[in-house]
Amino acid sequence: MTIASVVLDIKTRSLLSAYSYSVPCELAGEVEVGATVLVPFGNRPAVGYVVGLSSMLAEGIDETKLRAIEKVLAPSAFDETAAELALWIAREYACPAVAAVRLFLPPGSLPKARRLADGSWELTSKHLGKLENRWVRRAPGGEAFTPRADAYRQRELLEALSRGPLPLSELKATLPGVAPTLRVLEKRGVVEVFEGEPELVRPEGTTLGSAEAPVPDRLTRGQEAALAMISRALGRGDGTVVLVDGVTGSGKTEVYLETIEAALSLGRGAIVLVPEISLTPQTLGRFRSRFGDEVALMHSRLTPAERRQQWMAVCSGKARVVVGARSALFCPVADLGLVVIDEEHEFTYKQEQAPRYHAREVAAKLVRLRGASLVLGSATPSLESLKRCREGEFLGARWERVRMPERATGALLPEVSLVDLRGTHTEGSTVFSPELADALRETHARGEKSVLLINRRGFSPFLICEDCGCVPECPHCSSSLTYHARRHELVCHSCGSIWPIKPWPDPTSLCPHCGSRYLRAPGVGTERVEGEVRQLLPDAEVIRMDADTTSGAGAHQRLLERFDASRGAVLVGTQMIAKGLDFPEVTLVGVVNADTSLKLPDFRSAERTFDLLEQVTGRAGRGSKPGRVIIQSYWSTHPAVACVARKDRDAFVESELALRREAGYPPFVRLANITASGVDEARVKATISELGARLRDAAPRAGWQVVGPAECLRAKVRDRFRHHVIVKAPLGAELGERLFSLARGLGGSGVSLAIDVDAYEVL
Ligand code: ADP
Ligand code: ZN
Ligand code: ZN
Repeated sequence: MTIASVVLDIKTRSLLSAYSYSVPCELAGEVEVGATVLVPFGNRPAVGYVVGLSSMLAEGIDETKLRAIEKVLAPSAFDETAAELALWIAREYACPAVAAVRLFLPPGSLPKARRLADGSWELTSKHLGKLENRWVRRAPGGEAFTPRADAYRQRELLEALSRGPLPLSELKATLPGVAPTLRVLEKRGVVEVFEGEPELVRPEGTTLGSAEAPVPDRLTRGQEAALAMISRALGRGDGTVVLVDGVTGSGKTEVYLETIEAALSLGRGAIVLVPEISLTPQTLGRFRSRFGDEVALMHSRLTPAERRQQWMAVCSGKARVVVGARSALFCPVADLGLVVIDEEHEFTYKQEQAPRYHAREVAAKLVRLRGASLVLGSATPSLESLKRCREGEFLGARWERVRMPERATGALLPEVSLVDLRGTHTEGSTVFSPELADALRETHARGEKSVLLINRRGFSPFLICEDCGCVPECPHCSSSLTYHARRHELVCHSCGSIWPIKPWPDPTSLCPHCGSRYLRAPGVGTERVEGEVRQLLPDAEVIRMDADTTSGAGAHQRLLERFDASRGAVLVGTQMIAKGLDFPEVTLVGVVNADTSLKLPDFRSAERTFDLLEQVTGRAGRGSKPGRVIIQSYWSTHPAVACVARKDRDAFVESELALRREAGYPPFVRLANITASGVDEARVKATISELGARLRDAAPRAGWQVVGPAECLRAKVRDRFRHHVIVKAPLGAELGERLFSLARGLGGSGVSLAIDVDAYEVL
């Protein structure tokens, strides 16, 4: 008799493991690992996924009570190794097994059993919508067209098409808001949209389009070293991790391309993860120009039908390279040889909803299971990866690092200077130090561009009462309201509520607490900086980029278009401008306030600050002219600030690792954050204190340290109260599984419990 392990898709049950069912003879050939099946559960049918087959009954299961699989609903979507990985994810990150299994299913295929009026059951699955097979290419005869200097998006689009036709869906996903530009150029006969598969020419023996994206004549010494290390790892096929620690522009992408080529020539496939924000047509274009239609794209802006089409291309073996965000990890790439994670330090690789997995950790496990290799790339690698490379090993896998300290094009890294703001503040003083003000004027006078970063994380332009010190808060959430000067509104960024107020110093806007009229904004917001730049440089184009100016579709692109088109322009923005921005005429980067994010009660705040400063530094001097960076700070001796200026990352890493070791934080321990939330605070508290008691009970034997329970820093969000408890455990501990079982039976009745293993968001 064959026994199938089936993970059930039942909403009301959170199951960490699988149930056993017998496979009836008539279904013997059909029931495979990865298949979707219909099984009886209690007095109703349920949908489930087969994660294992065996001829032996697990101990303690009574054969006579075993029920049979009723029907196969869909053929196998994943293999045994994927099933093993899914169950590992469920255990590791304390989530129901079905949530982890779903990651591996083709997009848009979640069948549900639904009870009809007559009591029978019917299967439904989401309607995917019609799939358009439309492509865009440059129109014959339209080659003479050159876009105006200020038509940034037209140029971006034409550049994207310069390597050949592209699917319309791909353009829409990677160039948000491109549709109007496309219509304009189509009307003028510059591009054309057509139906059906184009002929992608792939010359024998060479790679497609190698003329447009030239393979460099000579690799740099760093690139040679990286390739040698990765090719040894590929040869061993033992799940080795190679960290490519290379400055911006050192040619990491070139290394990925060559490595993928090597993997493909061995007949093996590759997965490349890129933070979604940097998944532009230019990034994708570099992969397309080397690997043509062997590249599949996984992007959240694709429709489910489009994602499914990409998934199918991988499944059929047509596409052997998948480029995408986190979820690309779960594509069924045949004979996977290589996984690449670009910008591996990015926090977006941690998923914030269940299953709360970290792509780096899942990838490390995946390559081990598949006998493949993992390549991590970054200019500011995570402390986790650096520590593992120092030790040469983590959880039985080999971790190695290779450095690429120089820019491949020979461009110099910018000069960085620090301005200490302490004691410089006087009534009516500006947000710019004399150094930064001078630099802005000079840069503008030369017709070059400047970027000004306002570090907004953990900091908002509050209104504060100068008499009693009170800060108006949202009555629904425990967050301070931010003041938006242009619209004279107080806004809650947790729930979006808005209170119009009169602008200071209008006497009618009074402190809600003491009635004082000295209610004003002490902090620096993007609007204030924008206003001050306009005063300093009255004839400069000033562009502000923050959550408010970029909310509409394509707004982001429009603002960059304006910045690109204007000589001597200044771009003022929050952290969203730190990444990816690549304008050769930017020769000055100013950081208005470097250290606000250092004051957050989050053990990663120094690392986040360092990464942000490093990244924004990389925006200066990307062209032929040298760049300059000025960082203003109240805390210029803090290693996260000082080491950026000294270009001494090792010193920062050293001091930060020492602090983490001493205080018992990752990467020296594992940390889980468990949050209870609900509208009834008494219930929330009861739930979290019961969990706290269970955890403390288990702690001595498990070697855990339990911190809390306590109210979260963001104590109320959308009228829900939040309390949490933190568990620290030794590295390699089976934390998720234990937490999952300890939390069993808790939550429900209006209280939800979120277990976040290896948490990145602890506020
Ligand atoms: P990174 O990904 O590290 O930021 P890229 O791979 O994007 O760096 O390379 C930066 C620039 O250097 C690109 O324009 C690329 O074409 C160029 N480049 C890469 N490798 C070489 C090389 N060996 N010789 C000359 N130019 C190179
Ligand atoms: Zn007051
Ligand atoms: Zn609110």
